[in-house]
Amino acid sequence: MKHLREELWFKTPNRRDYLNITEKVEQLVEHSGVKNGLCLVNAMHITASVYINDAESGLIQDYDDWLEKLAPHEPISHYRHNRTGEDNGDAHLKRQIMGRQVVVAITDGELDFGPWEQIYYAEFDGKRKKRVLVKIIGE
Ligand code: ZN
Repeated sequence: MKHLREELWFKTPNRRDYLNITEKVEQLVEHSGVKNGLCLVNAMHITASVYINDAESGLIQDYDDWLEKLAPHEPISHYRHNRTGEDNGDAHLKRQIMGRQVVVAITDGELDFGPWEQIYYAEFDGKRKKRVLVKIIGE
């Protein structure tokens, strides 16, 4: 069995950002030499997500508005978690609803997506270095 483990590092300019990382993952699939297998992509932090959806700017803004309604960043004092001295109580909740990881099948050396599917890294507590794990296994 072939396998590849790689970390992708990000430092987003804003507290919340949504990055399309599909091309980076595709490059790793190619580099792995795996023709048929599975590709796991997961955020390694509890205030960031990896998810799959459409690459469309209106949708990203809709997600952001929706998440801010569900778990607004402010007032910071609203979150018990922030009594620890942190200010990212909202980011933990946003991560939970947007998920930790995705798994995509690899078929004939390519990510076997449905129509419009793209892989996104969602940052909810940015402006610092954080990483995503990519693990590829197969033949
Ligand atoms: Zn925290």
